[in-house]
Amino acid sequence: MLPANAFWRRRLHDVRGWDDFERLPLTTKSELLADQAADPPFGTNLTNPPEHYVRLHQTSGSSGDRPLRWLDTPESWEWWLRIWAEHVYRAAGVTARDRVFFAFSFGPFIGFWSAFGGAQRLGALCMSGGAMTSEQRLRSLLDLDATVLLSTPTYALRLADVANELGLDLRRSGVRVTIHAGEPGASIPATRGAIEAAYGARCFDHTGMTELGPTGFSCSQRDGIHLIESEFIFEVLDPNGRPAGEGELVATNLGRWGMPLVRYRTGDRVTVSAEPCACGSPFMKLVGGIQGRIDDMFTVRGVNLYPSQVEDIVRRHPEVAEFVIERRRERQMDEVSLLIETAFDGSSTERLEADLRQALGVRIDCRVVERGTLPRSELKAKRIRQGDT
Ligand SMILES: [Zn+2]
Repeated sequence: MLPANAFWRRRLHDVRGWDDFERLPLTTKSELLADQAADPPFGTNLTNPPEHYVRLHQTSGSSGDRPLRWLDTPESWEWWLRIWAEHVYRAAGVTARDRVFFAFSFGPFIGFWSAFGGAQRLGALCMSGGAMTSEQRLRSLLDLDATVLLSTPTYALRLADVANELGLDLRRSGVRVTIHAGEPGASIPATRGAIEAAYGARCFDHTGMTELGPTGFSCSQRDGIHLIESEFIFEVLDPNGRPAGEGELVATNLGRWGMPLVRYRTGDRVTVSAEPCACGSPFMKLVGGIQGRIDDMFTVRGVNLYPSQVEDIVRRHPEVAEFVIERRRERQMDEVSLLIETAFDGSSTERLEADLRQALGVRIDCRVVERGTLPRSELKAKRIRQGDT
């Protein structure tokens, strides 16, 4: 691979053992974006001649960056689909007998396409929910007798809301499994509980990235994410770049040779456990899934918090339909408010404020905003935003 790939030829040296590997430079998303900007449209991380690639996907660009483009060869695409079939779907108990409904648009987002292809490879019936309203998706789900739903956790709850408004009972649908990605929700106990209650199904988490591949899945225990160590080398590094049990997840993929990544900083904050899991998986586990983005951490009166900790409290309150954490900088301090849309008129925020204070040890202001004013997304929900100062 080295002589053909200009990006890695500049960065890699001979690796004979783990010590050599650990001296390889870390790779960041901004380096990849800069490489694509300098060498448009795909950059220099190409191992094969351009005509060998068959698929293009790109990141959403939701963090304000330009979208990052990623190419796959037939071999690397088959690698994606095989991991979905052999790990993600298998762990959730999905088989060729299932009917899988995908509540996503048909855009350049890789999660949808790889999940769809993986289910097809498994022999399941794959049903696209692209270009539909939420109501049309619900009616398809019921009419087609879907047994598995794939969506973001936020969108699964949004569909459940719409079902309520329409008087449709999702618990009487055939859906027995839901699989979620894009946000950590399915590993957050209260969010998972809310989805399971709405659908009468078992809810599973999955992690992956456009530029890396499908990295993890939640097993029958559903208390975290197993990292697929047979297909990646994973490291967890502290802020000084030293190996740690808690820190940023760094990954090297082993089967996507057309456009590979070595020691890629995912930006995800994780805690790993090497304790054996009751499901029997040999893979290490991220406790509670991905805890958040490294740069999503905020500080309230000296206490470091992540949006997922707030979400776990908020989702225990069925009166909250949607929420966003608004962060302002006032007098050199982070000030944080929770903006919420309530499901019923006249709900009070007092109980939620008290629960937040008790669980997190700090006071967080809750403000009710008008219904329909907070963003909802089929892709990643943005749980934290910068307010006016
Ligand atoms: Zn397990």
